[in-house]
Amino acid sequence: MNSTEKIQRSTLPEIKVIPVICSWCNTLCDLKKSEVSNGGKITASFGICPKCEKKVKKKICA
Ligand SMILES: [Zn+2]
Repeated sequence: MNSTEKIQRSTLPEIKVIPVICSWCNTLCDLKKSEVSNGGKITASFGICPKCEKKVKKKICA
């Protein structure tokens, strides 16, 4: 029982700012805070920037 407590303490996630890259135009479009497990690598997140969002919406509507 005590061993699980120790594991949970050592793997407390850290809140880190990670970049959000637009997967349409490959530019940094946002930063977001995300929980990264202790010692874990920060990996960029993919999203969509407002410009591309408009383009995509137009395509869908047209
Ligand atoms: Zn974009």
